[in-house]
Amino acid sequence: MKRLSIFGATGSIGQSTLDLIRREKENFQIVALTGAHNIDDLVSDALEFRPDCVVCAIASHFNTLKEHLSGSGIEVLGGPSGLKDAAERPADIALSAIVGAAGLEPGLRAMKAGAHLALANKESMVAAGALMKKTAADKNVNLIPVDSEHSAIFQALIGEDSNSVERVILTASGGAFRNWSLEKIARTTPEQAATHPNWDMGQRITIDSASLFNKSLEVIEAKELFDLNPDQIEVLIHPQSLIHALVGFRDGALMAHIGPPDMRHAIGFALNYPSRKHLPVERLDLTKIGQFDFEKPDFEKYPALRLAFQVLEIGQLSGALYNAAKEIALDAFIGRKIGFLDMAHVVERVLERTFATSGSSVDPLNLENVLMMDQMGRDQANEEILKFSS
Ligand code: NAD
Ligand code: MG
Repeated sequence: MKRLSIFGATGSIGQSTLDLIRREKENFQIVALTGAHNIDDLVSDALEFRPDCVVCAIASHFNTLKEHLSGSGIEVLGGPSGLKDAAERPADIALSAIVGAAGLEPGLRAMKAGAHLALANKESMVAAGALMKKTAADKNVNLIPVDSEHSAIFQALIGEDSNSVERVILTASGGAFRNWSLEKIARTTPEQAATHPNWDMGQRITIDSASLFNKSLEVIEAKELFDLNPDQIEVLIHPQSLIHALVGFRDGALMAHIGPPDMRHAIGFALNYPSRKHLPVERLDLTKIGQFDFEKPDFEKYPALRLAFQVLEIGQLSGALYNAAKEIALDAFIGRKIGFLDMAHVVERVLERTFATSGSSVDPLNLENVLMMDQMGRDQANEEILKFSS
């Protein structure tokens, strides 16, 4: 029986995970389930999966959650301290599936408490890749990516010498606006951007997929997870979303990971690692698929990607700044304060302000520095956004 904690249980990844657990409840003991806004789902999941504790990350919802679970025998915690408490409880594996930089500290704490980390929260690696890896190494726990592209690369690398890797290719569907003109993209609404052609995901990551900010975070995530140089990472638009990533080796071999666009594969792989167990995902019939298409992404249409490669070159804690500015810009787009393409302008301005001249040479292994850089990214992005309304 594996002890499992799920951070972000009410989200898209969290719910896909619970769908897998539901099929083999006898093999998992749930230590903690956490959510933020969706209290009804949190209550029904808690009653079904009987975790030791349930956490509502938004402190103001704590009383409602407590009321709904009174008499159930399930411990109810709330706010940042509740999240901290839950992350420190012994577990064999923790699934990090909170959206945004808010997922960083629970993931770090869970590893420090000795849990292997199944990592969906890519923002942790973007903001604090060095610290995440060092924590995993110090605690001798596995850091297993759940992002489909990175799970694909991780799987292609099993048994391989990392020195023999020449390049990795991350695929991107191209999001909702792949065939739209730049003028049309500039006028898009949050509702249009929150619809994905292939994947069913949370609102924020879906909009990030349309702007390729999601792929951009994944470029940085890949560099951090697999110790790659910027020139070893390529991105290709692959509209079918069936090849999740490819790894090219120095003997010319190119290993592709192919599967349906269903996150339950990568989640199940991470939960069962190093074993492979039966998973309820579609088995592809290649004769029905017929063809795989690829094209190079246009950096003018997708400025987020150009900026991500800048972040790779800058290094230091530029990823923390990039991610934080992106989160604020995304909030502003969802709140209709700025346009779709303005998100990248905001992030570019924030990167320029900090790194164009002097740079910032703080220790990336220090969590305080990561949080400081994150806050600076948020403050500067808010300042830049104000300029749009003035
Ligand atoms: P989602 O928005 O559907 O769910 C996010 C979860 O985080 C919810 O449980 C929500 O209540 C919780 N949450 C939100 N803000 C919080 C806060 N401030 N503090 C604590 N908890 C908070 O998101 P998702 O699509 O499931 O994505 C989760 C993570 O997984 C993201 O980092 C995303 O990039 C990554 N990811 C998602 C997919 C996907 O298919 N959805 C694929 C790859 C990677
Ligand atoms: Mg992905």
